[in-house]
Amino acid sequence: MNNAEFSLLVRADCEATGHAIADAALGERATRGLAEIAVRSGLKTTLLVIPTDLEASPALYREMEQSGHEVGLHVHPADQGYEEFLGVYGPDMQRRIIDEAALRFAQIMGRRPHSICIGYGSANDYTYPVFTELGFTHGHISIPSRILPECASVWAGAPLDVHYAHPYNRILTGTLDFVEIPQTLDPESRMWGGKHPQDLRVELVDAKNHWYTTSKAVERQLRDDVPVKLIHIVTHNTFEFGSPADFRQQTLLKMIEHAIDIVTSKGGTVRAATMADVAMAFRQAKPLGQTQDVKLRLDTRGRQ
Ligand SMILES: [Zn+2]
Repeated sequence: MNNAEFSLLVRADCEATGHAIADAALGERATRGLAEIAVRSGLKTTLLVIPTDLEASPALYREMEQSGHEVGLHVHPADQGYEEFLGVYGPDMQRRIIDEAALRFAQIMGRRPHSICIGYGSANDYTYPVFTELGFTHGHISIPSRILPECASVWAGAPLDVHYAHPYNRILTGTLDFVEIPQTLDPESRMWGGKHPQDLRVELVDAKNHWYTTSKAVERQLRDDVPVKLIHIVTHNTFEFGSPADFRQQTLLKMIEHAIDIVTSKGGTVRAATMADVAMAFRQAKPLGQTQDVKLRLDTRGRQ
């Protein structure tokens, strides 16, 4: 039996006012519903929010932060009048798009955001350094093993676990002062014609399917003894999470129950965590000053 602590993170990208949904009232109901589910389960949520959702519901997000949930920034460039996918841009335009969103966040929340997530996981090698320049300390853009060039979202070979980003290469571990917190997924279980791994996105599949992904991820992290063990569930504030009749609410509640069961059945413990809590735990376990960019070595075994 292993004794290990797993952080359980429930994160929602809040974008109900985005062009695809455009329903602020649904967004408010969903965000409240998610927070209620988290509290009822002894957890906290992390809400990464596009500027228009913040502007539509300023009191809600201030209240969420005061209640102990984390509020950070979500960016969809198209909702700010740019191209859909951030990863098509160079560093100057990325800086402009993200800073513009961060300023609108600060107008509502009274401070700059510390955590960030980019729509579609769309990024390139300029993206992480832009985050640190703009004062972000942690967040999520990688979707390890995803190969979706049509969204400028290619993450084949990216680390599955929490790590410092690399200054020049988005799929390596490095020494940038930015903690990447990937969502939990199974790189071997493929969807969308093999382009996307099955991940813990609530709305992707049912609770039974999520059970297998969670179980496999827990076993792998115990086997590899990763420094910060994590179950990272993801969703959007575009479903009726406040309604007990809603399939997504039922799925999320089951996912949380299963995550706790799986960890405890292996002798581990679960702690409630926001993204900021996970980043802090990682910084304590692996101080940045004692970390180096990954050293790559050519594999020459085949030459013998
Ligand atoms: Zn999004």
